[in-house]
Amino acid sequence: MKARACSLDGHRDGGDTAKESGTQMNPVNSADRWSVYPPSVNLESEFDIDWIRSQFDFVNTGRIVTNNAASTQAPLPILHLTREVLRDYENVHRGQSQASQSTTMRFELAYDTIAAWINAPSRRNIVTYRNTTEAHNAVMYSLMTEFRDGDNVVTTMLEHNSNYVPWYALTEEILPRFGRRVERRLARFDPVTGALDLHHLTSLVDERTKLVCCTGASNFLGTKPPLDIVRAIADASGYVQPTGERRSLMLVDAAQLVPSTYTDVQALDVDYLSFSFHKMLAPFGVGVLYGKEHLLDHSLPFLFGGDMIAEGQVSPDLVEYNELPWKYAAGTPNIVGVVQSAQTLRLMIDLTADPGEASFFRSERPIPAHVVRRSMERIGRHTHGLTARALDRLSAVPGITIYGPPIGVVRSPLVAFNVEGWNPLDLATELDSRGVEARAGCHCATLAHHSLGLDPPASCRLSFALYNSTDDVDRACAAVLDATGRDGGSVSRSLRL
Ligand code: PMP
Repeated sequence: MKARACSLDGHRDGGDTAKESGTQMNPVNSADRWSVYPPSVNLESEFDIDWIRSQFDFVNTGRIVTNNAASTQAPLPILHLTREVLRDYENVHRGQSQASQSTTMRFELAYDTIAAWINAPSRRNIVTYRNTTEAHNAVMYSLMTEFRDGDNVVTTMLEHNSNYVPWYALTEEILPRFGRRVERRLARFDPVTGALDLHHLTSLVDERTKLVCCTGASNFLGTKPPLDIVRAIADASGYVQPTGERRSLMLVDAAQLVPSTYTDVQALDVDYLSFSFHKMLAPFGVGVLYGKEHLLDHSLPFLFGGDMIAEGQVSPDLVEYNELPWKYAAGTPNIVGVVQSAQTLRLMIDLTADPGEASFFRSERPIPAHVVRRSMERIGRHTHGLTARALDRLSAVPGITIYGPPIGVVRSPLVAFNVEGWNPLDLATELDSRGVEARAGCHCATLAHHSLGLDPPASCRLSFALYNSTDDVDRACAAVLDATGRDGGSVSRSLRL
């Protein structure tokens, strides 16, 4: 692929400024102690990775950012756009000024972009919250009044706490106070491969299962459960919903799925799906809940107040709610964050497009599904290649245990591991001192860590994004080897278990 000449928004100053102010973080040298990676895996053939990296300020600091499953870095064009948005912005749906009108338009168009990204029928299916966690709580509160005594909710041991604790709270703390007894059931996973145990899941779902909650990709094991089969299991339950449907609802936590995989909510036929933009290049602050229109229409909102009511339709005896999706937008929303997030999606298309193709960033052009699919497939192949390379190199580290699917089996772009004799938190600190940003802990996948019997319930994780290069992977893996002293380097005994 040909190199590109200039940045996406014509701003040339950001990178230089960062270079001047950035600190050199003492990165390790590229490792050449492993055999050459198979030439059949040509990792960067679809991207001009240098050009992509030039769109990110952090690159100039020397950081090796390999904690992307937690949060990604924001690109410079979004920072520049933010300055413009802030220059003439106003509240949405709350003013007659030009600024309010144009901000409202930008904000509403952002919903169309988000809907297009996941192939939702329209903006009426999109609710924005602060993050994935809030989206799960929103589903929990919306459905809270619908659970009948004797119902159950099924989730899995693979879940992030944000897709378990709300169901724990509902069944253990909230509904019992109303005298309702609802069971919580947890499907197991295979401790060796990380695969969801579909037989166990099937055995847990019955005609009293109102909801099946499942991750689209585990943030610890990298496992991607077969969502079509989970859907079929939920379909077969025969649970009678208040809408008359006879099947269990299905909520997919797609916080680790949407950032690396093309996700089509209609093809998946999910009822609810959540994700956070801070894991896909946008700044912090916005999460999405997709919901089927009839469910959002029928359910109670999670938050009540201004803007979620129909204009003028509030009296002492009767309140009527706004049309979708604003019924779920109580109070002033994160207007700038929503605009930034949608524009980041548009930018991702441009970053992964062929040179010379028409731009989507800053435009109002509708985004065809095939364009999103191509962009995400390219990102997926790139991050998959990086992950395969990391797996290959890390598996050469003596005493390492890598969790999740074996090499060659589909996994999201992350590798969690432990090295014998090392506390993963100490190891992550050692990596950081070598300029490599990893994450150690339970990654909020506490159930899965306990289920594997890990003591402490923790692992060290490297995770990859669009802007990572093979050099990043090599440096990160070299740092693991170096830090654990497996290549002859010295190890501080105080850091060992
Ligand atoms: N689910 C998964 C699978 C995650 O990885 C995360 C973030 N680590 C979340 C949910 C929660 O996302 P947020 O912090 O944006 O609410």
